[in-house]
Amino acid sequence: MQLPALDRLPVPVFRCDDEGRLIWANVAWTEQLGVPPGEFWYLPFREFDAAQRAQLRSRCIEANEPFTIRLRAEPPGKPQRWYELVAQPAIPDGANQPQLLGSLIDVTQYTLGKAETEAILETAVDAILTIDAEGRIETFNQAACDLFGYSFEEVQGRNIAMLMGSPHAADHDSYLANYLITGEKKIIGIGRELEARTASGAMIPIYLAVSEIELAGRRRFTGIIRDLTEQHAAREALVEQREKLAHVGRLSTMGEMTASIAHEINQPLTAIAMYAQAGVKMLQQNRDTTKIMDALEKLNVQALRAGAVIERIQRFARAQDSVRELADTNELIRDLLKLAGSDARLHSIELKLELADDLPALFVDPIQIQQVVLNLIRNAIDAMLEIDCSNGRTIVVRSELNSQGEIEVSVSDLGPGVADNQVDLLFTPFHTTKKEGMGMGLSICRTIISEHGGELSYRNKPDAGATFFFRLPQHDA
Ligand code: ADP
Repeated sequence: MQLPALDRLPVPVFRCDDEGRLIWANVAWTEQLGVPPGEFWYLPFREFDAAQRAQLRSRCIEANEPFTIRLRAEPPGKPQRWYELVAQPAIPDGANQPQLLGSLIDVTQYTLGKAETEAILETAVDAILTIDAEGRIETFNQAACDLFGYSFEEVQGRNIAMLMGSPHAADHDSYLANYLITGEKKIIGIGRELEARTASGAMIPIYLAVSEIELAGRRRFTGIIRDLTEQHAAREALVEQREKLAHVGRLSTMGEMTASIAHEINQPLTAIAMYAQAGVKMLQQNRDTTKIMDALEKLNVQALRAGAVIERIQRFARAQDSVRELADTNELIRDLLKLAGSDARLHSIELKLELADDLPALFVDPIQIQQVVLNLIRNAIDAMLEIDCSNGRTIVVRSELNSQGEIEVSVSDLGPGVADNQVDLLFTPFHTTKKEGMGMGLSICRTIISEHGGELSYRNKPDAGATFFFRLPQHDA
């Protein structure tokens, strides 16, 4: 059977016997594949192995069905090309053996484009997957397999919820359905941090970015996932370091305050000794028991006072994980003054409070905020002592709600103010102008306040001294 109509067709067409031996081929076949009649048509298709040939034979010749397969041709002296082979049985008149009619569609461009895309996806560092409009997984690259611990075969066609943590897992189908109906985007095109579930059941922090694609009328969603485990670990390590530093700062402040603390404890201890001696004397003189009782009660009050000082110091100096709780600014300041007051008293400096009423609550680590106020007060005392309190002996601690709705706490002194050449150095770690200073106070204070979402700064007062202040956001109820 000759097929003159097909001879000039630009698509390679051939006819072969049931063994695959070429009986006839058109011009395009000869030009592109170069296999002459009498040879096997599949010679340039080296990967077309015996098993595939048997399949072609059984499907096409024995079952009399069309057969399609994508093949790579490597004709001698020509660049390789990809073809889609479409074969069908042909039983020409007079032929005693079944024959095959095949044509080849050149799909090189499409195949290479697809291969390149697949290579990019497979070698991408981020996990990339696609799901259909029902949430079923369609593609899952190598990085996704590595991240989740599943092979592609294990996830293919399964609902994406299997990779999610609750509550998202349970709600995902309704999210998707809701989006498809209303177009309301909760994550598509936005991206957010979530938790994902791996094959071992472990939950890992991820960043998920989702985009939507529509191909051939079908909607699909692509998710790019970045593992945040290391980032989170680094963040936690940093927070831990900062907490340790804040603790070291508190210990060093306590160290610097030993003189005033000793004074603060010595007072009740002296009183205790005095009341004890008086009690002994009264017993020796067989005095009225009510007088002895009175002395003992006073002794008890002083013992409690000394205990309270020690308890405050312990609480302040303790190493503890940062906690955030609702706190009242003024209460924090008043409570701290029991500790800071001793230092001021020792130097005959007055701590004056100007606290605004009805301040909104803070959500803070109370000890850390007290640490900042204590540092500012101690710096204020040092500054005033530096000039022998020649401008006066009062420090004003103020709290107020500023026009931005933030809570502002300030400590104003009557020291020399911050010198011009100190402006850039003030918050630099280890910068100090004091003989025994460490230069860590302000830099730790600034870190604490910025960790709480606020800022710490200062201004020189027009008359005398400096005001150091910090602002903190109020707690959203
Ligand atoms: P340190 O108190 O150990 O020196 P800080 O970081 O608390 O460390 O302070 C750094 C420097 O900032 C101080 O040495 C001082 O020069 C300056 N400073 C801090 N507070 C005041 C203040 N109220 N008035 C003037 N200078 C100040």
